[in-house]
Amino acid sequence: MQVKQLTIALAGNPNSGKTTIFNILTGTRQKVGNWPGVTVEKKEGTTHKFNRELKIIDLPGTYSLTPFSIEEIVARDFILEECPDVVIDIIDASNLERSLYLATQLREIDCKVMFALNMADMARNRGIKIDGDKLSELLDLPVVFTVGNKNKNIDDLLEKAIELAESDHDIIQHRRVQYNNDTEKSIALLQSFIEDQTRGQLTYNSRWTAIKLIEDDRIVKDRILRQFGAGGEEIISRAETQRKILTGRFNDDPEILMTDERYGFIAGIIKEVHTTSTRQRVDLSRNLDLVLTNRFIGFPIFLFLIWSMFQITFSLGAYPMGWIENGILIFSSLLDSLLPSGILKDLLLDGIIAGVGSVIIFLPNILILFFCIALFEDTGYMSRAAFLMDKIMHLIGLHGKSFIPMLMGFGCSVPAIMATRTLESEKDRILTILITPFMSCSARLPIYIVFAGAFFAEQAGTVIFSIYLAGIVIAIISGRMFRSTLLRGADAPFVMELPPYRVPMVKSLLIHMWDRSKMFLKKMGGIILVGSIIIWTLSSFPADIDYSQDYTANIAGIRAEYDQQLAVESPQQKTILEKERDTVVADLERARKAEKVEKSYMGQIGKVLAPVFAPIGIDWRGGIALLTGFVAKEIVVSTLGVLYATGDNDEPDALGKVLKSSGMTGMGALSMMVFVLLYIPCLATVATIKKETGSSKWMLFSICYSTGLAWALSFLVYHGGRLMGFS
Ligand code: GDP
Ligand code: MG
Repeated sequence: MQVKQLTIALAGNPNSGKTTIFNILTGTRQKVGNWPGVTVEKKEGTTHKFNRELKIIDLPGTYSLTPFSIEEIVARDFILEECPDVVIDIIDASNLERSLYLATQLREIDCKVMFALNMADMARNRGIKIDGDKLSELLDLPVVFTVGNKNKNIDDLLEKAIELAESDHDIIQHRRVQYNNDTEKSIALLQSFIEDQTRGQLTYNSRWTAIKLIEDDRIVKDRILRQFGAGGEEIISRAETQRKILTGRFNDDPEILMTDERYGFIAGIIKEVHTTSTRQRVDLSRNLDLVLTNRFIGFPIFLFLIWSMFQITFSLGAYPMGWIENGILIFSSLLDSLLPSGILKDLLLDGIIAGVGSVIIFLPNILILFFCIALFEDTGYMSRAAFLMDKIMHLIGLHGKSFIPMLMGFGCSVPAIMATRTLESEKDRILTILITPFMSCSARLPIYIVFAGAFFAEQAGTVIFSIYLAGIVIAIISGRMFRSTLLRGADAPFVMELPPYRVPMVKSLLIHMWDRSKMFLKKMGGIILVGSIIIWTLSSFPADIDYSQDYTANIAGIRAEYDQQLAVESPQQKTILEKERDTVVADLERARKAEKVEKSYMGQIGKVLAPVFAPIGIDWRGGIALLTGFVAKEIVVSTLGVLYATGDNDEPDALGKVLKSSGMTGMGALSMMVFVLLYIPCLATVATIKKETGSSKWMLFSICYSTGLAWALSFLVYHGGRLMGFS
């Protein structure tokens, strides 16, 4: 017997518990991606229950179904076009009135809707009583009370949903918003005209279409025009006529009027089904907010929490980082002893394991960072942080919400840019994406440590702090500039919401953490792998190099020489001589390595690029390192290590010493750090920028802007510093 398939969509306001219920229903069988064409997260999963195959979709959280935000368009299009068998509207029962706006709109579309009155526990705690039977009767749809985070009544919900899907419940809705007589008349006229014109070809409910056209919904208008051509134009002009009539009669836009009437309808329902006991419980959330969003106490607490987050991320992360590092070391030495020498072994060890390994070690930091962020989000604290930062962010013309991605940028730009999805306005999103890479990510820190340590030993800490600060200042200035030129005006004002605090569920924390880390790993893994192979190839070929001296013969010669001397010396002298011999041999090996890289394709490219970097005090090796830094900023230091041939086992500041003796100046080092801070973000970030802005144009802009700015400021720092007498 064939298993029946049903599609169930979960709709609802943000924070109503959709994802929680989605996770319970689908367990681990989830697919996370993007809705086609836009960068709104798409979650779907399947489950087998009650002898059916159920496909569950977690629609983006919205407050209504107007065509003004991507989320709303996505949710609406899905319901209209995919016609799910049931739409479950997940309602925050402690906020019934606000939730019902979406509900009335869902009710107008021709689909089977039911309610999950979630957060039933919170509603009860606040002394709110909802008459579910009455609500069900008034709106003519099934209503189930649920508590998502305690997995209460979810099976019941599913059972009712299936029942509704398979019933031939009369979907002509008796209980829906009734508009005033004039509006209803216009709707009816337009509706019958649409039905005549389209003769059954219309995909959507004709009443709904008529309402939307009277509301001047641009997306529905576009659809009608595209589908019906000249006939469509006629429909639009009829709609226009009706709009004019209604506008003339009420002296207001029909869409405003209809919105008012929906609210009136909702107010009526609330009166019928909603009672609040007079003896309200003490509202813990509100009391907490008195402290946490207080102007004076709130800020230090916030800074402390953020500081703790970084502290935990880096200090706690250092342990597993060390273990992974050791693991990689053991693994590669094992391979080293097992594999036969040859090009494949070199590729595997020096290319792939060295490259990918250098990124994998950051996994613990990333997991911890994301765990903390998930904790902030799930408890509701993140909204308070955004609230606190709102004033400061307004300096750049952004909302406090944009602060969250920027903060995450100190960890890694990739998830930070993905976090901009929470911003409603596309302009805000793009602006935030453009300035987030200036928040110096953790991968750049090793570079600063090397350069500041070598050239500014005493003031290294101050120098590094200034670099971070410079990043923030440049982000703010750039933000202001973009806001007043390319991305003018904030057109989506919004009320900063402060959802109630909640004790987070471990399961959802882990899922949120893993969701982010997984995407990060996938991207990094692929890109780093390819990048490492390319860098290795470029620096290993051509294989037959004309060395300036015959290193093999010379090394052998030196060994022979020392062996002769060793044969006659006393034991004390012997150890000294052996040491001397080893140093000389190591120096030669290094020289060989350096020459090999210098004459490799990589070195040749570096020489070509040298004129670009010379004016900012960076030699060809630095240039190459910066170039490889495009793959991942972590690689800059290791490339420098290869190019300056410091060897692997030297003391940690070896690279700094070599850099100093190579003719680089303090100002050159500073210029290098400024350049690293600002220039093109890594490949993974660039790919993310493209994905999240949905356009190569913004990606190219970001690349050119950041790199141009990097060069210009490095030039200023380098020459400015020298003019002022520093070297
Ligand atoms: P979404 O934005 O609609 O996807 O909401 P989420 O599923 O992310 O839930 C937001 C928060 O509400 C999470 O911290 C959940 O643990 C919590 N939550 C979900 N359902 C309930 C519930 O029935 N009662 C309570 N008290 N909390 C819930
Ligand atoms: Mg969600």
